[in-house]
Amino acid sequence: MDSLDSVAETVLRRRYLRRDENGNVVETPAGMFRRVAETLAQAEGRFDGDVEATGRTFYEAMTALEFLPNSPTLMNAGTELEQLAACFVLPVEDSLESIFTALKQAALVHQSGGGTGFSFSNLRPEGDVVKKTGGVASGPVSFMRIFDAATEQIKQGGRRRGANMGVLDASHPDVEMFVTAKEGTGAFRNFNLSVATDAMFWEAYDAGEPYDLVNPRTDEVVGQADPDDVLDLAAETAWETGDPGLLFLDTINEHNPTPQLGRLEATNPCGEVPLLPYEACVLGSINLARHTDGEAVDWDKLRETVHMGVRFLDNAIVLSDFPVSEIEEMMTATRKLGLGVMGFHDMLVDLRIPYYSREAVEFAGELMSFIHDESWAASRQLADERGPFPAWEDSTRAEPMRNATTTTIAPTGTISLIAGCSASIEPIYNVAYTKQVMGGLEIVNDRFVDLAKERGFYAEELMAELHDRTSIQNVEEIPDDVKQLFHTAHDVPADGHLRVQAAFQEHVDNAVSKTVNLPRSASVEDVKDVFLTAREFGVKGITVFRSGARSEQVLGETPLQ
Ligand code: ADP
Repeated sequence: MDSLDSVAETVLRRRYLRRDENGNVVETPAGMFRRVAETLAQAEGRFDGDVEATGRTFYEAMTALEFLPNSPTLMNAGTELEQLAACFVLPVEDSLESIFTALKQAALVHQSGGGTGFSFSNLRPEGDVVKKTGGVASGPVSFMRIFDAATEQIKQGGRRRGANMGVLDASHPDVEMFVTAKEGTGAFRNFNLSVATDAMFWEAYDAGEPYDLVNPRTDEVVGQADPDDVLDLAAETAWETGDPGLLFLDTINEHNPTPQLGRLEATNPCGEVPLLPYEACVLGSINLARHTDGEAVDWDKLRETVHMGVRFLDNAIVLSDFPVSEIEEMMTATRKLGLGVMGFHDMLVDLRIPYYSREAVEFAGELMSFIHDESWAASRQLADERGPFPAWEDSTRAEPMRNATTTTIAPTGTISLIAGCSASIEPIYNVAYTKQVMGGLEIVNDRFVDLAKERGFYAEELMAELHDRTSIQNVEEIPDDVKQLFHTAHDVPADGHLRVQAAFQEHVDNAVSKTVNLPRSASVEDVKDVFLTAREFGVKGITVFRSGARSEQVLGETPLQ
């Protein structure tokens, strides 16, 4: 296999490679990829496919770092815990029975390496009556605390802590409490939060009028809120803590492929997959950095990788064990895949396109449209071979497909470290820096180093000087055209982040996980502006992160950039 860099070696050794009962690593990286490839190829046997040839193809794609599945697949394939998906949504109904069932199911999902999302909108508000006991209800936010505490205790076999997404509808009477839940140190460390907004909320906002707050237990209107105040409050807390974000439920449901099975009300922890209760999704990401010839996109190779990726992920659904039988049922009904990309910024560097440019946004659309079309073609082909997803007939998909969805943009927090590429569709963090995870990882941008050598401005002292800066734009030694290719997350203004997100979203079945970075000096009003622009751009959800905000991000080991 291609040699891995030392960051990849460290990440794999610490979290992925199998260990014996004494904790000693008993697997090499190549051995891990072989285990995963051979396991995933087994699914071919059920459909008269070629197990061996497919195994080789999967192995080659992973060892060449052209494609990697989500972490649970790398960790669990071919082991006793054959749970391969990263994303889950669990239902929470308005009863103690349901709340504690969800808690138990979430624990099982976390233990298997997955992240869980919940809508808490069905829970009666704080102070409402509890008929059975004549008592007073404690409300969604207080129950979320129990989920948070439970998550803290489950360490996923020592590899990573669990992660949750908590969603509450803007029309819930406790919305204010929810919006400000992360204020104060350490609250809800294991949660990302999103306020769900819909047409009713935005029509009221546009009209400058209040909207109704409804008790979900009785469907009675119990008060009103000013949408502008709610947005202000959300912007204020997001300014301080990074949460909450917003979900645009109408946009999400416009694209719901299986409305006959229900309305989409929640997403997985990082927001890239809206799912029905008990649905799950297996993710995989194409490393774009390995799909150029150094100057232009290798479209033929990309097409091949997309087709391989869809087959790989569908095989994962065939083989995956799920810790809860309801998940097994839903997963088999819709067979949702989340094929996405990483190394987008690296690819732009090869194409000599600055990240913050109109050209980059146009190219993003062209690229993702290609991947989308090819992934649907691959899924249709699989439907011919294996049959369409069982819920296909009443779905919005005109032609038989094997999967209700094929595409997603995930954060690729850890797998991009293994692949040695820029994360997801994000701009780089810097050309050289220490990433504060797993005891400190030294990340150096190979493309920058190569260009510096080629152009004759490479020097160890320069690299040392650039280390841990958040921008290279003011460094004299670096030629302007090179500077332009290495815009960092901090150089790219909010509208640049959002335009890239929107360009990808247009061609993605599920959603796009993207962090819109704002400088430390940004105001609360700036955060609110991003919320409003996100709505205008028609994305499905939005997360804003102001540099210096208390970064109690859920994914401690996989910060979002
Ligand atoms: P990776 O790079 O490890 O495959 P991503 O950063 O792309 O993962 O995240 C994809 C999804 O995996 C997240 O949205 C979430 O659903 C799940 N996930 C990520 N990190 C964790 C974690 N620490 N615990 C549980 N689930 C996680």
